[in-house]
Amino acid sequence: MAITTRDRYEQIKRFEGDLSQCMKCGFCTFFCPVYQEEFVESSVARGKNMMIRELLAGELDYTKEYADRLNKCTLCMACTTNCPARANIPNVIVAARADTVEARGIKFPYNIVYRWVLPRRTLFGNVVRFASWFQGIFLPKTEGTIRHLSMFLSALGKGRQIPEIAPKFLRQVVPVVNKPPAGVETRMKVGYFTGCMTDFVLPDLGEHIIDFLNRKGVEVVVPKEQGCCGAPVFLGAGDFDTGRKMADTNVKAFEDVDYIISDCATCTSSLKDYVKFLADTSERKEAYTKFGDKVKDISEFLVDVLKLPASAYQPASEVKGKKVTWHDPCHLVRHLGIKDQPRQIIKSIPGVEYVEMPNADRCCGMAGTFSIYYYDLSKKIADKKVEAIESTGADIVVSSCPGCEIQLLDGVIRNKMPVKVMHIMELLQ
Ligand code: SF4
Ligand code: SF4
Repeated sequence: MAITTRDRYEQIKRFEGDLSQCMKCGFCTFFCPVYQEEFVESSVARGKNMMIRELLAGELDYTKEYADRLNKCTLCMACTTNCPARANIPNVIVAARADTVEARGIKFPYNIVYRWVLPRRTLFGNVVRFASWFQGIFLPKTEGTIRHLSMFLSALGKGRQIPEIAPKFLRQVVPVVNKPPAGVETRMKVGYFTGCMTDFVLPDLGEHIIDFLNRKGVEVVVPKEQGCCGAPVFLGAGDFDTGRKMADTNVKAFEDVDYIISDCATCTSSLKDYVKFLADTSERKEAYTKFGDKVKDISEFLVDVLKLPASAYQPASEVKGKKVTWHDPCHLVRHLGIKDQPRQIIKSIPGVEYVEMPNADRCCGMAGTFSIYYYDLSKKIADKKVEAIESTGADIVVSSCPGCEIQLLDGVIRNKMPVKVMHIMELLQ
C-alpha cells in the first residue's frame, strides 16, 4: 500500500503549532548544551526546526543523516525555557523521531532491546542478571562498587564508569505492600514506581525510600507488574507503538493508589508524557491523564503533598557536617517546574551546609541513549557540570535522577575529584 504524505508526517503534524512558533532569532544557541560544544546549526532548536520544515516541504527525506541530527538532542528544554516565543521544539523533535522510526525502522540491536527486552520486566531482569554474572570478568572494578566499562562494550560508552548491578533487585527484597510500623497511623497509600535503575542497581535506595515513607505514615505499594517507564523507547528512539504497550502496562499496575511516587526525574516526567505523545484514542487519553495526574516526584511529594515539617529531615550519619550542592535534572526543573522543593529539603537538614553551584540547572549530558550514541559529546557537556561542582568546594553533589547520578559519577571519577554523588533521599535518616 502506498504511504500517503500525511502518514509520513503524522506525528510532526500534531505539533505543528510548536513548529511554526519559532521565529529564527537564534537565542537558543546560547543555551543549547549540544550547540555550545559543536557550534553547528543542526545541533540547536532553530536548526532542527528548519530541518523538519524542509522535510515537510519535501526538500529533505528520512535519510540516515537526518535521523542522526534528530538524535543529537538531550531534550533538556533549555531552548524552550529561554525562547522569547516559548517554542517547544523538543516536542517536535520527539514527534519527528516517531515519524522517522515509521519510515526507517530501528537498527539492530536497539530494535531487540526496545521492542523485546525493555517492555518485558522479567526478561529484562533476566538479561540484567545474566550481564551481572559477567561484570566481574569484563568490567574491572575501579572504585568501591564502580565498574569501568571495557572497550568491547563501546555501545554503552567507551571507558564509562558505571555502578555495578545489585546482587538482588529491589522487587526481590521488598514485599508488594509495605505498611507503616506499629504505632504509626496510615495517612495515605502510594504506589512506588521504582524505575529500572533503582530496581536493578540501587535497591538500597528503594528500600530506604519505602522505610522513610512508612515512618511518615505512608503505605507504599510496589506492584510487581510495573515495567520500564518507556523513556528510551518512545522519547529517545521514537517507537510510539512499543511505548504505548509499556504505558498501558504501567497504568494498569497502578490503578488502586492515591499517588504514584518516583525517585527518578526522567521516569516522573516520562510517565506524565504518556498523554502528550502516546494517547491515540479517547480511552487512552482519559487513562493516561488520570495516571499522569497521580505521578509525583519524591521531593514534590514530601514538600507539597505530605507537607512534612523541617524537623522531619534529619541527616544520615555520613552527611553530618558535609557541604552539599544540588544538580537540577532537566526533567525535574524544566519539564516539571520543580526547583524549590529539593532545595527546601536540603536546607532543612541540620548539620548540612548547602551551597548553590553555578548553572545548577544546566544539562549534565546524560539524556539516556544520547550518552550512548554520543559519549564523547556527552562527556564534554558533563565536564562543564563537573567544573561547576568543583567551584563550590562541595563534599557531596546531590540529585534525584539516577541517570544524572551515573553521569555525575562518571564525571567526578574521570576528573579525580573527591566528591561523592548521592540521591537526595540518601541524605536523610
Ligand atoms: S526556538 Fe526560540 S530561541 Fe530558538 S530560534 Fe526559534 S524562536 Fe528563537
Ligand atoms: S532540547 Fe536541549 S539539546 Fe535539544 S535543541 Fe533544545 S537546548 Fe538543544
